[in-house]
Amino acid sequence: MQHTMDEEKYIPGIYNYCDRWCEQCRYTDRCYSFQMEVEAGLTAEDKDISNPKFWEHVSNNMKKALEMLHQHAEEMGIDLDNLPDVEEPLPSKKVVELTEHWTKLHDDYLDKADAFFEENKDYFPEKGHESIRWVEMGIKGENETLAFWQDVTNKREIIGWYLYFIGAKISRALNGYDEINDEHWDSPLQSDSYCTSRILVIAIERSMAAWQVFLGAFPEKENEILDMLTLLDKLRRQVVAVFPDWQKTMPGVEW
Ligand code: SF4
Repeated sequence: MQHTMDEEKYIPGIYNYCDRWCEQCRYTDRCYSFQMEVEAGLTAEDKDISNPKFWEHVSNNMKKALEMLHQHAEEMGIDLDNLPDVEEPLPSKKVVELTEHWTKLHDDYLDKADAFFEENKDYFPEKGHESIRWVEMGIKGENETLAFWQDVTNKREIIGWYLYFIGAKISRALNGYDEINDEHWDSPLQSDSYCTSRILVIAIERSMAAWQVFLGAFPEKENEILDMLTLLDKLRRQVVAVFPDWQKTMPGVEW
């Protein structure tokens, strides 16, 4: 009965629609992917894609998945080596246009964010030294200054985490968009596309909230930050217009 217990314990497919930030996730106990990584002895460092151990784990998982697929196909009498050729349908005009438009917004955002951190790589340490001087002169409190920089560091991490993630989720949400009404989803809200839209909107919103903190902290950088916020806001509005019920996907899961 282990199988039934596991089914109750794990939230089906949750790892497909999360932000992969396991260190911050409240569902590690109920995530099959995370538990498999724990069983494989993977640490956060091992999950770095430049680490060979990560690729070894991916390869082992692929082998397991293929074995399960072959076993399942055999049980169903399907010969996987002789499947009929199926022509992939072309994406609709709407998907092509949305992909082009959203990718352009994301690319512009990416360029601006990369340039922002590159061009200001001396600015932030200077601001840090300035803060230390203020504390030494008694103009600012030590705890207040520490909290300020902790907040900035935390928001910088959030911005970095979602920078490329947003692009990957745009592709996934739109790739499946033409199939959201297919019968094999019990409802459009359970389609891969719709479920992906939720984490996409969340990633954009969290990035925007993080940039808002930067705006408050470094008002002299207002123009650059507002440019990025405008791009993210445009993207968010368009995603929400295409997926108006994004909040209703994955009920019971709170990110
Ligand atoms: S659901 Fe949570 S634990 Fe599982 S992969 Fe996603 S972030 Fe990691």
